[in-house]
Amino acid sequence: MSSMVDDSALFSLNLSAELATLAADPELIALQRRLREALLQDQLSLVFQPIFDIHGLRLHSAEALLRWHHPELGDVSPARFIPLAERSDLILDLGRHVLAQAVAQIARWQAQGLEPVPVAINISGAELKQEGFARQIDEALQRHGVSGRLLRVEVTEHGLISDFARATDNLRAAGELGLGVALDDFGTGYSSFRYLRHLPMHALKIDREFVAGVDRDARDQRVVRAMVAMAHSLRLKVIAEGVETESELITLRRLHCDYVQGFFTGRPMPPADFAALLASQGGATAPT
Ligand code: C2E
Ligand code: MG
Ligand code: MG
Repeated sequence: MSSMVDDSALFSLNLSAELATLAADPELIALQRRLREALLQDQLSLVFQPIFDIHGLRLHSAEALLRWHHPELGDVSPARFIPLAERSDLILDLGRHVLAQAVAQIARWQAQGLEPVPVAINISGAELKQEGFARQIDEALQRHGVSGRLLRVEVTEHGLISDFARATDNLRAAGELGLGVALDDFGTGYSSFRYLRHLPMHALKIDREFVAGVDRDARDQRVVRAMVAMAHSLRLKVIAEGVETESELITLRRLHCDYVQGFFTGRPMPPADFAALLASQGGATAPT
């Protein structure tokens, strides 16, 4: 009984802290309201950034990234609105929207006679904790007749920590549907071996923090080399994020990264442009 009292006391403390922050920042409240409207008014869309095999630069997969175009505010960055949405259940609605849009887009490419590559969606902590996480994914796949092998999820260590056991179960269930799992922003969080040991994962994404200027920084090169060796010993593939120059690409190739994503090889692009890329590359490589 005492634990119930403690929990609810803690809850109301958290809640009042949250309200205090919100009250202190009316701009945040307004933005949150606008974001709810955005969901209803179709202001949100997905762009797709290509991920290439680092050696042959063959198209390997894509990351779906959310974009918000507000009629008055213009483009609002996900780096701003995702953390805001994560402060309430709004993130669950956004997550459902992204899942539905991504799977529908894969189905559209297939209907156009293209052979899509796997598409990764970003998953927030609150979504990972949700009961029925894999069921929702399964329903979306079934609705559009899309194979689970064409969908991937990216999770961050930050997203895993609040309920690690549930997150692991959910990711395992998603894995049973054929989905690959990548650990995003690797190196910026706890980089705990616990995650690497226990999670049903396929890939690590090395954060841009270690990639930007890696060609000129011997220390970053040593860090990346160590991350890659560790990942490979755990049979994980390595995706280098945020590669902006050819020199970075060449260095990352030498450091044995497997895949590359960044402005140098391809910016996030609308579905029609990605369709052209799919057509030019002549379809999919086998998902690994
Ligand atoms: P992320 O998942 O790490 O995504 C990679 C970010 O790096 C994207 O920013 C992408 O546009 C950017 N990027 C890619 N290549 C380069 C490069 O060469 N140079 C630079 N400077 N940046 C590059 P974006 O689209 O602004 O997204 C920011 C973050 O917002 C994402 O980081 C992700 O954490 C979150 N996000 C985006 N879409 C979603 C979504 O649908 N759901 C959730 N939960 N989070 C999302
Ligand atoms: Mg990501
Ligand atoms: Mg990242």
